[in-house]
Formats: sequence, C-alpha cells, structure tokens
Amino acid sequence: MPELPDVEVFRRYLNSTALHKKISGIEVRTKKILEGVSARTLRDRLAGRSFSATGRRGKYLFARLEGDGWLVEHFGMTGELKYFQDPADEPDHTRMLLLFNNGYRLAYVNVRLLGKIAWAKTIEEFADGHNLGPDALEIGRDDFAGILEKKRGSLKAALMNQSDLSGIGNIYSDEILFQAGLHPQSEPRDLDRETVNRLHRTMRRVLKTAIGNKADPEKFPRGYLTGKREEGADCPRCGGKIERLKISGRSAYFCPGCQKQ
Ligand SMILES: [Zn+2]
Repeated sequence: MPELPDVEVFRRYLNSTALHKKISGIEVRTKKILEGVSARTLRDRLAGRSFSATGRRGKYLFARLEGDGWLVEHFGMTGELKYFQDPADEPDHTRMLLLFNNGYRLAYVNVRLLGKIAWAKTIEEFADGHNLGPDALEIGRDDFAGILEKKRGSLKAALMNQSDLSGIGNIYSDEILFQAGLHPQSEPRDLDRETVNRLHRTMRRVLKTAIGNKADPEKFPRGYLTGKREEGADCPRCGGKIERLKISGRSAYFCPGCQKQ
C-alpha cells in the first residue's frame, strides 16, 4: 500500500519525467476512480497545459497545472505511475493515461480501484476538505506531542490516523515503532515527553531512509523490519521471533523482546 515514502518517490518520479511537458490528451479508462470531477472537466483543465510543480500531503500526490489548480492522485492499496513512450509498454490496470506532445505517456496505475483522481484549487483546501492532518514529515515535535497526549487506544492506531497525522499506514507504523523500540499497543498519552521526542525523531529518520532507498524494502538497512513482517520470522535486531497482533483491523508485526514499552 503506497504510504508517504512511496508517494514521495512517485512525486520525484513525476518531477523527473512529466514536469513541464505539454499535455496533448487525457484518457480516463475507469471513471470510478474520479472523485468530484468529470472526465470532461479534467480534459478541459489539462489539455494543452503542463504540470509546473508537484506537492504531497500524506499519501496524496498533487501536480499543479500551469496557470491554476492541482490534479490530485491517491493510490489506494496498490498503485504507481509509469512514464513511457511505446504504447505496447502500457501497464495493466492503467486507469488514466496522459499523453504528451513529446510522444510520451504517463499512466496512473491502480489495481484494486481504491485509488482516486480529483481536482483541487489548493493543497490546503483539499486537505481541509478531506480532514487530512499535518504531513508526518512536516509536523514539528511539539505538535506531534500535542496529538499523542490526547490519544487513547493504541500507539499504532494513533500513528495511522490520517486526520491527526497524514502519510503513515500499516507498514511504516510497524517500522517506526520497531525502530523506536515501542510496543504497538502502548497508550499514546502514557508516553513521557522524552519518549515522544524519540518517537518523532525516529519517525522522521525511518521515512527519510525509506525515501532515500526509493521505498524499496530490499534496499532498506539490515536492521529494518519491513520485508520481514511475518509471524515467527527472526527479529533483525535480537534474533527473537516476530509476533502478530490485530490492531484496528490491521495486522501489526512487532518483536516482544525489542518493543517492551
Ligand atoms: Zn527483537
């Protein structure tokens, strides 16, 4: 599932491929992915223009149209972008295709149709309308502490709540808690300030490390849990056994030896 690091990698990919290229056509293959905008409106707004900048809030990617407004992309459970030239290279499950004057195409790929394409006047307005909290890489440690000190329930669920903090999902909440040595079921408001500061630092480090490694778990440092999230797998830190818990309907993987608190 694309989380903050994956979407940041997509944003950089869009920057290095389709930015400043004139859009000559747009094909919406699956209308179900459109949210609050029709295919015709999108065509009117995109055709003949180009992307002048990109942005991201949590798991949402924004591409600014030269002039005004932003194309918004969310990738659901499985999705990606692909820029290519030969129509034969079009990926399966392409839901929207942008054609450029230079002969290249940009495919928005979404396998399970849980992603979304939308239109926004500004990133802030879209974030407010979708109740998105601050981005996990932008939030300062005081605001982060302010969120956790009011929270009941599990620490893992608190990190994944997009209206408090946007960008972290099931995979990276496990990694952040593993790297911070904190149990996924800790009560957020029970953590002392020193622990919260450490968690904030760890969150930033994990997200940046993932982005620096193209969000590819195979390239992550040896002591990372992502890629080894399996019940009974060896803990990459202590050699103990990884365990699984259900939290908010999701599977949490953790090491009881390394994550005691
Ligand atoms: Zn361990």
